Amino acid sequence: MADRTPMPAELLRYLESRMQERADDIIRNVLQVPDYPPLPECPTCGVTPERIVSRVDDPGFLVDGQAVLVDFKPCGHGFTVPESELLRG
Ligand SMILES: [Zn+2]
Repeated sequence: MADRTPMPAELLRYLESRMQERADDIIRNVLQVPDYPPLPECPTCGVTPERIVSRVDDPGFLVDGQAVLVDFKPCGHGFTVPESELLRG
């Protein structure tokens, strides 16, 4: 597994809100693929990604808590938000 940079929960929520606004914009304006608004930039390199892949990590046996993993493509920067961070505030 590639190393991932810890991401604060606030940044994850910001990215999620940006993604939601983008999805709303696409639906509201009935946009076709070439006119889709850009995805939020990668926090590490600032490049607009082609895809953002987010999933919940299954920590497996004897590991406490789950983490949300966020990977930007194609730059390859990856982030992790631990459950302890998500539950904070
Ligand atoms: Zn990047």
